[in-house]
Order: sequence, then C-alpha cells, then structure tokens
Amino acid sequence: MNVFDQYEVWFVTGAQLLYGGDAVVAVDAHSNEMVKGLNESGRLPVKVVYKGTANSSKEVEAVFKAANNDERCVGVITWMHTFSPAKMWIHGLQQLKKPLLHLHTQFNKEIPWDTMDMDFMNLNQSAHGDREFGHICTRMRIRRKVVVGYWQDPETQRKIAVWMRVCAAWADAQDMLVIRFGDQMNNVAVTDGDKVEAEQRLGYHVDYCPVSELMEYHSQIKDADVDALVAVYFETYDHDAALEDKTGEAYRKVWNSAKAELALRAILKAKGAKGFTTNFDDLGQTDGSHFDQIPGLASQRLMAEGYGFGAEGDWKSAALYRTVWVMNQGLPNGCSFLEDYTLNFDGNNSAILQAHMLEICPLIAARKPRLEVHFLGIGIRKSQTARLVFTSKTGTGCTATVVDLGNRFRLIVNDVECIEPKPLPKLPVASALWIPQPNFEVGAGAWILAGGTHHSCFSYDLTAEYWEDYAEIAGIEMVYINKNTTLPEFKKELRTNEVYYMLNKALM
Ligand code: MN
Repeated sequence: MNVFDQYEVWFVTGAQLLYGGDAVVAVDAHSNEMVKGLNESGRLPVKVVYKGTANSSKEVEAVFKAANNDERCVGVITWMHTFSPAKMWIHGLQQLKKPLLHLHTQFNKEIPWDTMDMDFMNLNQSAHGDREFGHICTRMRIRRKVVVGYWQDPETQRKIAVWMRVCAAWADAQDMLVIRFGDQMNNVAVTDGDKVEAEQRLGYHVDYCPVSELMEYHSQIKDADVDALVAVYFETYDHDAALEDKTGEAYRKVWNSAKAELALRAILKAKGAKGFTTNFDDLGQTDGSHFDQIPGLASQRLMAEGYGFGAEGDWKSAALYRTVWVMNQGLPNGCSFLEDYTLNFDGNNSAILQAHMLEICPLIAARKPRLEVHFLGIGIRKSQTARLVFTSKTGTGCTATVVDLGNRFRLIVNDVECIEPKPLPKLPVASALWIPQPNFEVGAGAWILAGGTHHSCFSYDLTAEYWEDYAEIAGIEMVYINKNTTLPEFKKELRTNEVYYMLNKALM
C-alpha cells in the first residue's frame, strides 16, 4: 500500500453571498472542475477532496474544525475565488490545527478580452480576494505555504505535491513512537535534547526500552524463521558462496544478524513504534539471550522498510529519518541516515566520506548491495558481524538534521553533491562521498557554525523546498546552506535568528 493512500487534503474555496446564489453555484462548479483536474493530473501524491465554498464566518469555522477532527485530512488548501472578506476567516483560522496551503490561482488562465463584462469581473476575483486572505493570515501570524501559479501548470502542481508529501510526513510524525534500546552514547551532547519539547513541537514521542525486554523477544524467535530470513538475504544480495556454508562462522554470524532483525521487528510491531535507536554498549547480557554485535544489518534493512533509525541513541535522527522516508515514498533515488566519517582534502573536490559503522540504508546504493561478514572492534562486544556493503549513487542531494539549541530546535539543511568514491578494500562498510555545497570549506564551516550534528538524514530526491515546508508547519528555525551561501552572511543570519526566536518565544 502507498503510504499516501490513507490521507487526503481538503480544498476550501472562499466566496461570499454578496453576488447572489447563482454566483456561488458557478464558483462551486469551477472549484469542482479544478479539484478534479488536480486529482487527474497524476502529479499529486495525496487525493484532494473538495469541501465546498465557505461563505461566512460560521461556515469557515465549521469546515476548519471538521478538518482538525478528521484523521484522514493532513492539510487544507484555500483559494479565494471571489472577494471573500477576511474577517470571516478569523475564527476559523484561530481554530485550524492542520497545515495550510494558500493557492493563489484563477479558474480561467487568460483574460477573455473580447467577452469580459462586469459579471465576469465580479465572479473571478482571486486577484484581490487572495490578497485579502493573505493579509489576515499575515496579521494573525498564521504559518502557511503560499503557492502562486495557474492551477493546471505542472510547476504549480509540483509545489503542491511537495507540500502534500510534507503534510503526510507531518501527520505520520504526530503519531510516531521512537523506541530507544539502551540510552544515548555517554557524554555525547548533540544527540541529546529535550524530549518533552520535541513532542510539543514536532509531535513524536520517545520512549526508553530496556534491552532486557528486547531480549525477551529475541529468545522467542524461532530457528525456522531465522533460516527463512537468511535464505531471503542470500536471494537478495550478492555474496561469496562460502557464506552459505552452514558449518562456517560467517554463516553463523549472518544467522545471528537475521535473528536480531526478527527480534527488533517483532518488538517494534508489538509496541507500534515507527523508529528506534541502538547503542553498541548495550547488547544484552552475555549469559542470556543477547546480540553478538550491534544489529547493523537489521538497522540497514529496517531503515529501507521505513523504520526511523538513529545510531548511538540519537532519537532526533531516528524520528527525522522516518519523516524523510515518508516524504521520499515513490521517489526514485532513496534516502538514508548518514554520518560524517572522514575528510578528503582535494582542492575544489574536497569531500566528506559519509558512512557509519554499519548502519546505512541500502535505498541509496548505486548497485546491488553485497552481504559480507567482517570483524567490528567497536562496542561492548567485539565480533565478526554481517553487514551490507555498497557505495552510493552519484548526483545531487540534500541532507538535514535537527539540533536542540536549549531554547529551540534548529533545522539545518545542506545541498550536497555526491561524487564517485575510490574503492575502500579495507573498509567494508556502506558509504557515500559528497561535497557539501557551495564547497567543502564553506559548507562544512556553515554547518559547524550552525551547531549541526555529525549525523544527518539524507535524500537524493528531496530538496530544500520540502524542508522549508516542514519548518513552516513545525514552526521551527531552518537554516539552509547552498550554492549561494557565504560565511559572513550566514553568520549574520544565525545572529538575527537568535534574536528573532528569543522574542518569538517571549511572545508565545
Ligand atoms: Mn554515529
């Protein structure tokens, strides 16, 4: 099932009764045709449902309250067909809790120069009706996306589609549970943060689960189910034939990884969780059911399935990865949790190797991943362990992280260019190699000044526009590092934001 099928976006047309019932009937017909056209364009991931014209304060309030209470509705599009006096939107906008997109468009594409009369003028008034609506939104400090363009234009529809994907991911996050197996890696600052504020501001809930409880699931996993999953691995991934030798240690390690995956999936399903974190220092008691190393292969495969993942207890990244995965559904090139690993100074091509110990999502692989078993000497239990090894696609992408600055969350977004890496025969992990835009020095410098993590959530398909929409809906700060970024301007932006958010918080 497509993740977007469970959702809908409501379309509400602003009008008024000043011009008589016939005018409203015409407005209604135009709106129906537009919504039908939007749905039939094939460009929108979420179904648009026309909710009729709103002609009074009572009607606006009723439809927005209904939107709030409808679980399928992930956002509302408004369009003022006629002049719709904006005071009638005040009570409704005070109520509206769902993301808002204000579409500034017009039913007819061009002015019908030869036939246009005053009746036509009275009926087709979005040119000023949408400004009236924009005024009240701005005066009320209503966060929204404003899309300007002809409704049949692919570019207009593309902008609506971006917002819809973000709305779906936002709705998904309001019902998201992230489970931390073990605590965070000790002493790490950037992966920590205020979980209470995260739930208020970003919607998701973070729980702790002792690894001993995970091990209760682990001990219940049936050998036959593990055997079956191992067979799936061998069918799905390239591997050395020797790996299939059931008497070998490597086979045993693959088998252990499959059992870990089944245990993790079972407990996540039982708890209704959409994301999780692990910690390499907490893998269960040696004398009981336990993992022999971090469940890296499991994390890779669960990420591809849509589970949010953050290493070392990084619950903010786990939640953000799930959001990226939802937004990325159906798009061609994939997404992953990544970590800045090693720098490669090479003039204009200076780049950062993105990897993790093991946990990179195979959705970004350039070719079929290879299942391999190697020693991993980090963590409480040092052992041979299975993992998917691959390099990632080349091309442009966008990576993002959320940090807790003490008084607010900051979303940091960076355009990156993924380039071809050299072979890494002695580092058998999944990886990507990228140049942060506008170049390594400015890109990494700005990221560091912004306080960004070494962990981020990356996609080839998403752009900063998605993150702008996300930050707007969440009401959090966003800074965007891109081809036009200069450090002096970026530093100014950080300073002004500091003041803005301090005042903003005081006003809330
Ligand atoms: Mn890490």
